[in-house]
Amino acid sequence: MSEPKRYADRPKLRTRSDSRSKSEPRKISIADCKVQRITRLLVYCENRAEYCSHSAKLIVENFPDHFTLDDVEQRCRCTACGKKKCDVRPEYPPALGQGGPRSGAPR
Ligand SMILES: [Zn+2]
Repeated sequence: MSEPKRYADRPKLRTRSDSRSKSEPRKISIADCKVQRITRLLVYCENRAEYCSHSAKLIVENFPDHFTLDDVEQRCRCTACGKKKCDVRPEYPPALGQGGPRSGAPR
């Protein structure tokens, strides 16, 4: 009996979080997503060479708060083509703006 295998392929992220002082404007963390009530992430396969365009949804709750979307990206692998290149973006809830229609009915 040994440890479950799924923990074996975790990338080493521990030392990175504080040592990186580069200013990266679009560094959204899982905590940020939760603040914005984003519950899911959309992942698009970037394997343009083979026109894969596979997409998937990930549950925000499944990731630790200190993870950024970049971290999530690096963990992702396309289940369709097996490539590790993907684009992760938050799935904004439709009710929360972005020009969505309000429930106040116009007369
Ligand atoms: Zn793919």
